[in-house]
Amino acid sequence: MPSHDVMPNMELYQPVQVEDALALADRLADRGWLVGGGQDTYGWLKDRAKDADALIDLSAIESLRGVRETAGGIEIGALTTITEVATNSIIQDKFSLLSQAAGVVASPQIRNIGTLGGNVSQDVRCWYYRRGLSCYRAGGNLCYADTPQGMNRDHSLFKLVAALLLSHQILRLL
Ligand SMILES: Cc1cc2nc3c(=O)[nH]c(=O)nc-3n(C[C@H](O)[C@H](O)[C@H](O)COP(=O)(O)OP(=O)(O)OC[C@H]3O[C@@H](n4cnc5c(N)ncnc54)[C@H](O)[C@@H]3O)c2cc1C
Ligand code: SF4
Repeated sequence: MPSHDVMPNMELYQPVQVEDALALADRLADRGWLVGGGQDTYGWLKDRAKDADALIDLSAIESLRGVRETAGGIEIGALTTITEVATNSIIQDKFSLLSQAAGVVASPQIRNIGTLGGNVSQDVRCWYYRRGLSCYRAGGNLCYADTPQGMNRDHSLFKLVAALLLSHQILRLL
């Protein structure tokens, strides 16, 4: 699959209210794509592995940012960056495992831009799946990463089952 390294032409919406973003998402349905930091999105779109007619950029919706204490724990806004999750003092005090995990996700540049909402919603980061192969995840009956030659270095430390869980994001931030 060719990598173009440029974005395809598409419409861009930049709502500042949650209600407007929801209305846009509703109207555009499958042809619209929500964007937080774009660190997963831009890869798919630049590679032409997925497409959309319009981006709905959520980054100007201030009410979706930040960490708040609640009666039962904390609430983390979907637009809060991974760096903010790693460095927030409430999370460091009460959920230190989460802040430690967030502090080692990807690279500093990605942590500074990537959002929590995008991190938990991103699609599987597996070479084979992202290049369009028909593996288990894509509805086939093979796992290309589970071979002696498989490129699965970042999938997991713990053999196949955990590799599947990790590459499918289930344990990404645990
Ligand atoms: C080189 C590299 C290394 C990486 N290493 C790691 C790693 O070690 N661990 C790890 O966990 N991740 C890793 N990642 C993934 C990275 O953490 C994510 O790409 C990033 O956090 C996604 O956040 P984003 O806001 O940029 O997502 P976006 O690209 O903006 O969004 C990702 C997906 O989430 C959806 N989405 C975004 N925000 C919302 C929302 N508010 N509501 C509903 N849907 C939403 C989008 O529609 C899209 O489908 C790596 C990425 C790269 C490029
Ligand atoms: S780990 Fe295996 S099943 Fe999962 S996406 Fe990669 S190739 Fe597909």
